[in-house]
Amino acid sequence: MPHSSGTTDSRPTQTVIHRDKDTFLGEDNPFEAMMSRFDRAAELLNLDPGLYSVLRHPEKQVIVSVPVLLDNGEVQVFTGYRVLYSTTRGPGKGGIRFASNVSLEEVKALAAWMTWKCALVNIPFGGSKGGVVCDPNSLSNAELERLTRRYTSSILEILGPDSDVPAPDINTNERVMAWIMDTYSMHKRHTVTAVVTGKPVEMGGSRGRREATGRGCTIAAREAMRRREMPIHGARVAVQGFGNVGSIAAKHLEREGCSIISVSDVSGALYDENGLDVEDLLSWVQNHRFLSGYPKADPIGEHELLTAECEVLVPAAIENVITSKNAADIRAKIICEGANGPTTANADRILDEQGVYVVPDILANAGGATVSYFEWVQDRGGYFWDLETVNLRLERILVQAFDEVATMAERHNVNLRTAAYMLSIERVAAVHRLRGLYA
Ligand code: GLU
Repeated sequence: MPHSSGTTDSRPTQTVIHRDKDTFLGEDNPFEAMMSRFDRAAELLNLDPGLYSVLRHPEKQVIVSVPVLLDNGEVQVFTGYRVLYSTTRGPGKGGIRFASNVSLEEVKALAAWMTWKCALVNIPFGGSKGGVVCDPNSLSNAELERLTRRYTSSILEILGPDSDVPAPDINTNERVMAWIMDTYSMHKRHTVTAVVTGKPVEMGGSRGRREATGRGCTIAAREAMRRREMPIHGARVAVQGFGNVGSIAAKHLEREGCSIISVSDVSGALYDENGLDVEDLLSWVQNHRFLSGYPKADPIGEHELLTAECEVLVPAAIENVITSKNAADIRAKIICEGANGPTTANADRILDEQGVYVVPDILANAGGATVSYFEWVQDRGGYFWDLETVNLRLERILVQAFDEVATMAERHNVNLRTAAYMLSIERVAAVHRLRGLYA
């Protein structure tokens, strides 16, 4: 099955598939998946009908054609999207992904998730997301740069430190953010570092940003185990995705004393009941690009990884991997969602019945967005923090968000996902009420 990374990475992708709403089959439509959770939370919050309809609609959806001169002299036109779901609490915030299966439905869902995520960790941003339909592995470095710059210039009027701030996502990275920052700055005639986050540290990036999503995922998994009164030491963990989220989460969970029994990437999955050596896997991937061929563990199938007997399963790859088809087979006690939207709404119901404790994506992978906020603050203040300060503040924000979600879940007798949606929707709604409707 295709999976390239977590929420931020620069690794492989699939063949080009153009998808629109009608081509998603039922539970696979990410926007519908987001909406069904939104509806449940709105109902429990008794959200007034006006606000309900406002929050159900993205503020702005932009589709651009991006012509790119290829190295062979031909011109290829790519499709790009940028969706601002909400700017009620602050500028839009959200990554840009380059992948062959990007669609408007997906980008809309991801922009909505960013809105709830930023509200959940209480940072002053709304939510947005962007994507370009392309297979970055088939493009040269120069082509990728031209694609990035032309896409940036096509959405230039949307971007800005006060309006919409992109970041890395699947198949984009620090280098792509540097091109975006430069393109935007050239148009503005002065350097604007705060227009993107996830930049190289040398040009205004934050220390700790690269590791932040995986580190945050580790904090979320640790808090979940603490709540469930499960010992962290020796806890068996399976991680799907060995990109910027999965590999860092695996590394940090191993440091916390967990035993990483299974990991996978697009090339396949590995298993060792006694625990894999994550540092060794990282250096293997450094040299061989993919996990496949690693000699010190058993190759297994993707389904076996997802259904492995373990304490914690970390899906840190792509959307829709835990569905109504495999949810009943899951034997993990905790699922900590490193990716955005890895579990479908139908699967939620099955996992609930089985008593699986699911830490939802908008909480489990909020570390990246949180340190993006730190980066934006540092850029605007022109004063940069040391790594210790970044990590300490990240830890504090995530532990507090986890506590608030868990308390809400207990109070309303709902699962963590519903509680997280309730908390974040209420925070966005509260600002809507205060601001009023401009008529
Ligand atoms: N792409 C990451 C996410 O989905 C980070 C977004 C950001 O930092 O703006 O959370």
